[in-house]
Amino acid sequence: MILIDGKKIAAELREELRQEVVGLKAKHSKIPGLTVILIGDMAPSQIYVRMKEKAANEVGLKSEVIRYPEAVEEKTVLDKINELNKDENISGILVQLPLPKHIDKQKVIETILPGKDVDGFHPMNVGNLSSGYESSVPCTPLGCYLMIKKIEPNLSGKKAVMIGRSNLNGKPMAQLLLKENCTVTITHSKTKDLKAECLEADIIVAAVGIPELVKADWVKKDAIVIDVGINKTENGIVGDVAFDEVSKVARALTPVPGGVGPMTIACLLKNTIECFKRSQK
Ligand code: NAP
Repeated sequence: MILIDGKKIAAELREELRQEVVGLKAKHSKIPGLTVILIGDMAPSQIYVRMKEKAANEVGLKSEVIRYPEAVEEKTVLDKINELNKDENISGILVQLPLPKHIDKQKVIETILPGKDVDGFHPMNVGNLSSGYESSVPCTPLGCYLMIKKIEPNLSGKKAVMIGRSNLNGKPMAQLLLKENCTVTITHSKTKDLKAECLEADIIVAAVGIPELVKADWVKKDAIVIDVGINKTENGIVGDVAFDEVSKVARALTPVPGGVGPMTIACLLKNTIECFKRSQK
């Protein structure tokens, strides 16, 4: 079984990006800039933002975090996004989710210029991805995709099953694999026989949020299994896949932690650089 070492693959990607930033700086006399807006003081969001900032600095991007208190007015946030949209030194804007209830998430997402939308959540990017055009792609599925391609460069004709249909994970992941000529099934909480669907799959991407849902007898021998889940349990953090037993049947599997998580952050940096490059065309 191949343990897909997301930490290592992410470190390699960050090194590639670092070198690319050096080249971009020489060519354009400026470097890509990422601005993160963080609202409130929820611990997980604080941790994610700190990790993103550290990684951005590591690859040589200009990075900035704008912090607002939980009670900030929606208009203040939207005005700031509009200001960042106009700032030529900012290549990417990310508003850390979740947002306080009084702020309309969709309004925030749609205010970010599609060309600066490093999360790939703007409807224009979603549409472009599903139409097969150039777009920002949500960071987590992009990271999963890059790991799958490392294991199996030619995905044409493979059967892929997404567990979960969120806009963040399942749907964009399905689009990426469809573009690679996979035959894709998207499953969700109303799917009748999830085990039977999984048993058909050459590739399983589990993004559900149910600890160790995917068991060994759900997995075809030699399948590639990507575990997006992050679930806090009495036994610590576990994924959506029963790692120990599935590792005995799968061809390749991501661990939790150390699989998808590090790739998500590296792909945010990649998206920022891609936005910069598109803006220079
Ligand atoms: P989400 O928005 O809650 O979506 C969960 C999906 O799973 C929904 O489509 C839901 O179906 C489906 N589902 C629920 N129960 C199911 C069942 N019994 N069988 C089949 N499908 C079922 O979650 P998300 O934001 O995509 O996140 C999923 C997991 O990934 C979470 O554990 C989250 O913490 C983790 N995550 C990790 C990263 C990372 O960087 N590693 C990034 C993002 C998220 P319905 O649509 O029918 O409700």
